[in-house]
Amino acid sequence: MIEDKNQQRTSLSDIGEFGLIDQLTKNFKISQKSSVKGIGDDAAILNFDQKQVVVSTDLLVEGVHFDLSYMPLKHLGYKAIMVNLSDIYAMNAMATQVTVSIAVSNRFPLEALEELYAGVETASQIYNVDVVGGDTTSSTSGLIISVTAIGEVEKGDEVLRSGAKPNDLLVVTGDLGAAYMGLQILEREKEVFKVNPNNQPDLEPYTYIVERQLKPESRKDIVMLLKDLEVKPTSMIDISDGLSSEILHICKQSGVGCDVYENKIPLDPQVISTCEEFNIDSTTVALNGGEDYELLFTISQDDYPKIKANPNFSIIGHIKEPSAGIHLVTRADTRIPMKAQGWKSFED
Ligand code: ADP
Ligand code: MG
Repeated sequence: MIEDKNQQRTSLSDIGEFGLIDQLTKNFKISQKSSVKGIGDDAAILNFDQKQVVVSTDLLVEGVHFDLSYMPLKHLGYKAIMVNLSDIYAMNAMATQVTVSIAVSNRFPLEALEELYAGVETASQIYNVDVVGGDTTSSTSGLIISVTAIGEVEKGDEVLRSGAKPNDLLVVTGDLGAAYMGLQILEREKEVFKVNPNNQPDLEPYTYIVERQLKPESRKDIVMLLKDLEVKPTSMIDISDGLSSEILHICKQSGVGCDVYENKIPLDPQVISTCEEFNIDSTTVALNGGEDYELLFTISQDDYPKIKANPNFSIIGHIKEPSAGIHLVTRADTRIPMKAQGWKSFED
């Protein structure tokens, strides 16, 4: 679907592993104070002084997590970094370094991997993280990317999934379901393209949702905003698998129940119109779609005045005693038990 206009193809076997690593990493510069030694030795050296170190890893596998027929490699590199930084921000920490490991087959020329790394570099620059290492190996099948993100947080500032208390407010940032609907559009256009390769897709009405799928952002801005507002959430998680499964994680780990109001779930107008077009329920999409990389957190009611007027935040419910259970209160005012669907990674 997305044509490779780059005609130059340098085969990986011609340049070898070390040549490849040099090519891919030559632009990376170190800017974090905590990065003592970056790429180029047997290991990186980091120094966080008194701060706590936060570490998180994710693995992205071609055919499972991404489809290169509509995912440009540059976007994939960007997204691989975002997915990981999002986990660091969900701890109320600041991301400082990443390592990037790839397994690639010979079907990728050097130029394709340079595209991938251009996305890695852009994301690292925008979010101010240093790429301090990684590993490179061959793969007999698809492309595999693993990113490890490292961050720092002052002792006591960290926010876990387990701190929600009855009467806390449940808050979500941004809007939900767009990345999933963007994927539906891309999948549909891929099918159209298979039938007629001359048919160029008109993505104009879907720019926001397609961008949310192909170029997600992680919410570093929210972590900084909460600090400015002097709000420390009681619990927090990032929304990678879908709102309902993240709510269940917070409730389970905090040992609490909650009510979530269907009419409070933030949806972009493009999500609503695309759901109508596909005849899908927009609440189902927001609850189960995933890949939004927004933050879901709980705050004490005392902090409500600090966030109430802020357009970044939607208060979608409140925490209850564990015996109350976990429910969605629908627009028709019925209470239905919340179930997780999330990304069903292990289903056929
Ligand atoms: P080793 O044999 O010790 O694993 P490598 O030759 O694989 O060392 O790596 C050399 C240096 O390049 C190390 O600093 C490593 O972290 C870095 N590096 C290797 N592959 C990548 C990659 N794909 N992205 C970023 N850095 C990498
Ligand atoms: Mg290595």
